[in-house]
Amino acid sequence: MRLNELRQLSPAQWEAICQRCGRCCYEKLDDGGTIYYTSAPCDRLDLQSCLCTVYEQRNTVRPDCMPLTVEVLKAGYLPADCPYVAGLEDYPAPQMDGGDEL
Ligand code: SF4
Repeated sequence: MRLNELRQLSPAQWEAICQRCGRCCYEKLDDGGTIYYTSAPCDRLDLQSCLCTVYEQRNTVRPDCMPLTVEVLKAGYLPADCPYVAGLEDYPAPQMDGGDEL
């Protein structure tokens, strides 16, 4: 799906894209625009279900939880095979802390 198509989606359609894998709920480091994932999960992530335990209130409970917007997608915070960004041309995929592309 292209960014322009994503912009046209309703909130329900947008939410439906997520596969609830929880991978984006790990702490990240931004080194001059290159995103590095760490092995530290958000303390609100249920590691069994891979779901956020405060999803509806996440932005108030964790003000640093980044809302998923098209602009955020372009910045390279999501794993390359996440359905929001899979196939995006020139997507700046994040890297694991050790340097492996996600
Ligand atoms: S990485 Fe993508 S599919 Fe997985 S939880 Fe995050 S947004 Fe959803």
